[in-house]
Amino acid sequence: MFSQSPSLGEFDLIQHFFKAESDAMLSEENLPISLGIGDDCALLQTLPNEEIAITSDMLVSGKHFFADTNPEWLGHKALAVNLSDLAAMGAKPLGFTLAIALPEVNSKWLESFSKGLFAIAKTYSCPLIGGDTTAGPLNICITAFGSVPKGKSIRRSGATIGDDIWVSGSVGDARLTLAALRHEIGIEKTDLELIQSRMHQPTPRVHLGIALRDIASAALDISDGLLGDLKHILKASKVDGRVFLAELPKSAYLLQQSEQIQNQFAACGGDDYELCFTAPSTQRETIAQIGHKLNLALTRIGHIQAMKNAESSIELIATDGNLLNEQETATLLKSFDHFA
Ligand SMILES: [Mg+2]
Repeated sequence: MFSQSPSLGEFDLIQHFFKAESDAMLSEENLPISLGIGDDCALLQTLPNEEIAITSDMLVSGKHFFADTNPEWLGHKALAVNLSDLAAMGAKPLGFTLAIALPEVNSKWLESFSKGLFAIAKTYSCPLIGGDTTAGPLNICITAFGSVPKGKSIRRSGATIGDDIWVSGSVGDARLTLAALRHEIGIEKTDLELIQSRMHQPTPRVHLGIALRDIASAALDISDGLLGDLKHILKASKVDGRVFLAELPKSAYLLQQSEQIQNQFAACGGDDYELCFTAPSTQRETIAQIGHKLNLALTRIGHIQAMKNAESSIELIATDGNLLNEQETATLLKSFDHFA
């Protein structure tokens, strides 16, 4: 692991740099890793009656982030998006591998990237256990491993008619940040400084995912936009959903925008990395307690209903209580596309 093309002697530096941080973490914490970086493979200790959850995400310069993005933010986000996927399944992080292509060996960039990467790795006790480096256009690929007791993973296919639909935190701030950076909307500079971490340094809801193991019937993390992602649950569960736009949790910053922008960004803005989940209405009190314990807003935004057509769909209820017709729904989604 952490092999590199032989002509790239400089990459030894990277290897040693990442390995030192990784070794330090493994020796400081009692983690279920038998062997970290240094051999052909890393070894994870598999626990009896546990399943291994595996997820992989690739971040490509110019497509997923601006080339001049602060490398510390990038290190954070590259691992955060993977931890968010583990959280969505109710899995506890075990470790991750990093495959990275770099256009040049810039030790200042690497130092900053690795600062962000290892800070979040330590927060969630998820060590780097291997990887690969090569020269090429900047491209960061992380594969994360987690564990979940057998049969306890939260899948997309478990939502049933009558379940509530919930979302954690607030939605739309990452999209708001992007719109501000693109000068599509006006926002106070100080406000932008406060909200931009929502886009650059998202918080994976790892503790929430674990707490929801016996409570949620289905879950996923919101990477592409709340409604679009919710549709994946509906489709996998063969049900419809009804969502109340007025109930979508929005930050004080988003609430300063027009109602149209609020709805668009909260309902369709991507990169939120909050969890959207469903649960029987009998779990409302327990879910409120979990939110209280984690100091995290958990908001009921709608419910699951029977399928009306051959394909799963979402009914949207406007702030005035009226059902959005097909055209109004299309307009909401289309006006968002204008920004995309
Ligand atoms: Mg996901």
